Amino acid sequence: MPAQERRPIVAGNWKMNTTLSEAIQLASDVREPLATLAGVESVLCPPFISLAAVRDAVAGSPVALGAQNCHFEAKGAFTGEVSPAMLADLSCQYVIVGHSERRALFGEDDALVGRKLRAAQAHGLSVILCVGENLEQRESGQTDAVVGGQARGALEGLEASAWDRLVIAYEPVWAIGTGRAATSAQANETIGAIRRVVADLAGEEIAGRLRIQYGGSVTPANAAELFAQPEIDGALVGGASLKAVDFVAICRAAAT
Ligand code: PEP
Repeated sequence: MPAQERRPIVAGNWKMNTTLSEAIQLASDVREPLATLAGVESVLCPPFISLAAVRDAVAGSPVALGAQNCHFEAKGAFTGEVSPAMLADLSCQYVIVGHSERRALFGEDDALVGRKLRAAQAHGLSVILCVGENLEQRESGQTDAVVGGQARGALEGLEASAWDRLVIAYEPVWAIGTGRAATSAQANETIGAIRRVVADLAGEEIAGRLRIQYGGSVTPANAAELFAQPEIDGALVGGASLKAVDFVAICRAAAT
């Protein structure tokens, strides 16, 4: 599928930010401007406790709801965890798995990420799978091997129909929250490498259809240049998604 036929997707990862009232305010502020943007899919990923309120705030608009994480079991004795079944019941359409903060701070490995991914899909959720290298890995020329390994580790053996409920976010760890985004050429090149891994796993047709976002210090200032690259299908946005005008501007850049 030619790049221009893949509909870009921009997701705001609010991380552990926003109180309930702040979350409702932010969702309400982006709702109308995002509703008029036809050429992009926009997703809000608030903290768990605000999912229901954000769902209600964007109800009736095309803005989608996503969670930032999930467990792999549907229910049970897992104190403090939230299951894919609960997220589906809340009308979540997306869930992020394998974010670098969860890999680095909570010890999540590819096997666990793969389990979460399959469990989420089994409950009808679409998954945003994050992959990305750290600075040392980039500087020592291991980027493609690292992101390819993460993709294979989570996606090997995925059944053909499941690829339609998947988005990959390429997020270099050194670019997340640092104000130092990858250059558009770096992002395009690495996303191209990820797409070749997907082609190897699932075939050219699925690889050509799969949306692969870039994430890491995306702002209204660098969004258009990133989105002009043929391999980049939108963004996963952290810090800039907490400011309504900035998130809307990034979505607008993806829509044009
Ligand atoms: C992220 O956490 O997924 C992210 C991309 O953060 P930021 O945009 O703040 O770099």
